[in-house]
Amino acid sequence: MKRLSKVLGGPQIFIKRDDMTGLGLGGNKTRKLEYILGEAVAQGCDSVITAGAAQSNHCRQTAAAAAQLGMECHLVLGGEQPQKAEGNLLLNHIFACQIHWAGDHRKGEDIPQVMDQLVTAGRTPYVVPYGGSNELGAISFMHAVEELHSQTDAESFTHIFFASGSGGTHAGLMLGKRLMRASYEVVGINVDKGDNNQVPLKEEIIRISNRASKLVGLDHEFSSSEVILNSNYVGEGYGVVGNLENEAVSLMARTEGILLDPVYTGRAMGGLIQMIRSGAIKKDSRILFWHTGGAPALFAYSDSLTMKHSSDSFIQRF
Ligand SMILES: *Cc1c(COP(=O)(O)O)cnc(C)c1O
Repeated sequence: MKRLSKVLGGPQIFIKRDDMTGLGLGGNKTRKLEYILGEAVAQGCDSVITAGAAQSNHCRQTAAAAAQLGMECHLVLGGEQPQKAEGNLLLNHIFACQIHWAGDHRKGEDIPQVMDQLVTAGRTPYVVPYGGSNELGAISFMHAVEELHSQTDAESFTHIFFASGSGGTHAGLMLGKRLMRASYEVVGINVDKGDNNQVPLKEEIIRISNRASKLVGLDHEFSSSEVILNSNYVGEGYGVVGNLENEAVSLMARTEGILLDPVYTGRAMGGLIQMIRSGAIKKDSRILFWHTGGAPALFAYSDSLTMKHSSDSFIQRF
C-alpha cells in the first residue's frame, strides 16, 4: 500500500485481502467455515447454529455458507431485534436464516436451548463455535499462511498485524508461522475488552493453538510468551467506535480506496497507525496488514462514523 505507507512516513505496509474471500461479501470466517462446515456435511447434519453480536460478520458468512450447502441456519444474536435491519443483519435476512435474539448473551450462551428445540423437531443440527474459533478454524488459517508464503516473499515481513476477536485467526497465524519457520512477529490487536469472556482471550488463543497443533502433528506446545496480543486499543469496548477507528477507516479509504470496517479492521489499523507514530514500529519495518473483512457493518454504524459530517475532509490531498 504505497500511498498509505507514504502518508504514515514510515514502514512499508502490505495487505492480504481476506475481505475478498468472496462468500456473501467475504471475510476471514469463510476460510474457517470451509473446514468447519466440511465436518458438518461429513456428519450428515441438516442445520447449523451459531452465535454472535447483532452485526457479526461470522454469523453473516455462516448464513451464506449454510445457504450454499442447503442447510437451515439458526443465528443466536446478542441484543434485541432493532427497528431496522441494516448491514450484516439485513444480509442474514436475505440469506433466510432464523434469528433468535439473546439479549446480553452475545457469545452463544443460548445455543443449547436452540439445539434442544431443533433436536426435538427431528433435525440434526451442527453447532459452529463462536467466531468459528476451534482447532478446525485455526487449521484453515495455518493453511492461509502457507498461501501467503506461496504468493509473496513472506520471509521479508517483520510483522503481521490483524484484528483478534475470538482467537481462531490468531491461533492459526501462529501455527502457520511455526510451520513455515518464519521470523516475523504475529501481532493481534485485541478488539474486545472481554468482560463476558469465560476464558481470557490470550488463554483461549493458546488453547486453540495447542489443540490444532496436536491435530496436525506439529509437535509443538505453545506457551503464553509466544502470543503477542495488544489490548491497548480496546477503547470503550467491542463495537464502540471512536476517533481511532474513524481515522483508520478514513485514511485507508482516501489513500488506497480500500474499505475497512468500524469494529475489527478499523481498530487494528488504528492501532498500527498509533504504533508507527509512537515509534513502537520502526521505519524500516515491513508490515503485512491482514484485512479480515467486515465492511458490510459500515452500513450499520453510520451514526458513529464522523467523516460523513466533515465538509473539508474530501479536499485534503496526499
Ligand atoms: C471475526 C473477525 C475478526 C477476528 O477473527 P477471530 O478469529 O475471531 O479472532 C477480525 N476481523 C473481522 C472483520 C471479523 O469478522
